[in-house]
Amino acid sequence: MSNGKFKIYDKLNDVTHYTELIKDNFSVFYKDKKAKVYVHSYGCLQSVSDGEKLKGILVDMGYIATDVLEEADVILYNTCAVRENAEDRVFGNVGVLKALKKQNKQLIIGIAGCMTEQDDVKKRIQKSYPYVDLIMGSNAFDILPKLLYDKLSNNKKYVELEPITEKSDIIENIPVYRDDKIKANVSIMYGCDNFCSYCIVPYVRGRERSRASSEILEEIENLVKQGYKEIMLLGENVNSYGKGLENDIDFPTLLKKINAIKGEFWVRFMSSHPKDCSKELIDTVAACDKIEKHIHLPMQSGSNSILKVMNRKYTIEHFMSLVDYVKEKIPNATLSTDIIVGFPNETREDFEDTLSALRKARFDTVFSFIYSKRTGTVAAKLDDSVTDKEKSDRMCELLSIQNEIIVEKMQSYVDKTLRVLVDTYNTERNSVLGRDSGGILIEIENGDKTLKGRFVDVLITSAKRTLLLGKIV
Ligand code: SAM
Ligand code: SF4
Repeated sequence: MSNGKFKIYDKLNDVTHYTELIKDNFSVFYKDKKAKVYVHSYGCLQSVSDGEKLKGILVDMGYIATDVLEEADVILYNTCAVRENAEDRVFGNVGVLKALKKQNKQLIIGIAGCMTEQDDVKKRIQKSYPYVDLIMGSNAFDILPKLLYDKLSNNKKYVELEPITEKSDIIENIPVYRDDKIKANVSIMYGCDNFCSYCIVPYVRGRERSRASSEILEEIENLVKQGYKEIMLLGENVNSYGKGLENDIDFPTLLKKINAIKGEFWVRFMSSHPKDCSKELIDTVAACDKIEKHIHLPMQSGSNSILKVMNRKYTIEHFMSLVDYVKEKIPNATLSTDIIVGFPNETREDFEDTLSALRKARFDTVFSFIYSKRTGTVAAKLDDSVTDKEKSDRMCELLSIQNEIIVEKMQSYVDKTLRVLVDTYNTERNSVLGRDSGGILIEIENGDKTLKGRFVDVLITSAKRTLLLGKIV
């Protein structure tokens, strides 16, 4: 099949074959040049994790990873479609690449990720950014080697148009390039079946698919052996983990198996959909010493009528009962949430319900977003009576209430001792930074850089809004 300048593939999965072909011919394609690759991911951790695989594949082929855009021979943007502003940023950044392409005729530009699963976006890239060579979907790591090989050997442009919803294979053993040597992302499932009315994810990432538990456990065992200290398990709805797998394993059971892996490390996970968050999951977090005492439970709204139109399939009363259960079973747990402000036709009363839920739940972190219309979703068809000004005013109001809550909460840690995983050395202040099992940022005043990657007990001496200060005890 062909689509103008772009050749269209229906199914390309042969990662190993084409990776080997590029490896074998690398010196032919690049002569003696040490060719470099630049990969940037936009959006959520799932996208970052996919970007680490894309980079891993390219480094495995022979490219050298670089953080300097101008040095690169391959530039890959791994995109996010969840909100419009992330898409705008991608288009802006792709526009800048035109000049680089003029300077380096051999430069290969690829765009991967959720944005490229949308037909209108694909067409816009082909029409307005003709210097883009490869357009891949959100499973780009399956097809990148084949597309890149064809580009290098035939100098053809390729676009992958296979609908994501039909993709069911999960390819294992893809090399992963992790910049971080202490914390590692591990995807345990892909896709989403929930179809919240505002959300593009089910359309661009396809149906839920879980990785085999044996593969996940082996990957984590290897990461722990390599010295990784924090494993972040990723999935759009981790509570659905295991659906459709032959060995009938669920998420709490997977957590228990991970907890049994030998070694000193912590595990965290996101996201946990409130409609599927079971008491068993909360009990498991409480009981397992390696599972961090933090739960991300996206509320979205405090109004039952908005939750209904959002198709979230829980009530605010059910959500609050989960929050109460977490607080009862894990008193030291931190809770974070996502909130959408200005959903179509959100009344002042609906918004007040969100504020009162915020005051009641007292989250430690709130990720708040102004509603962004996503073409193709159910909510995009709704008329909207709320003005942009009302939306941004509501966002400011929400942030200021959450600010007061967080200042009080941070103050309550003073004089307590927290176990901290040190992950950063601050050269300017000659101090080290880390996070506790709830994810709170802590600066250790008497720490030195040898502590990076180690767990230490820290007495909290003072608190700022976003940071605790303390000393090793
Ligand atoms: N699967 C997770 C859940 O539902 O709990 C959330 C994953 S989603 C990629 C991350 C967050 O982006 C959502 O929780 C929601 O708050 C936000 N989001 C998704 N679609 C949005 C939209 N159209 N406008 C604004 N925010 C949106
Ligand atoms: Fe989007 Fe809802 Fe799926 Fe989360 S659960 S990814 S918000 S559709």
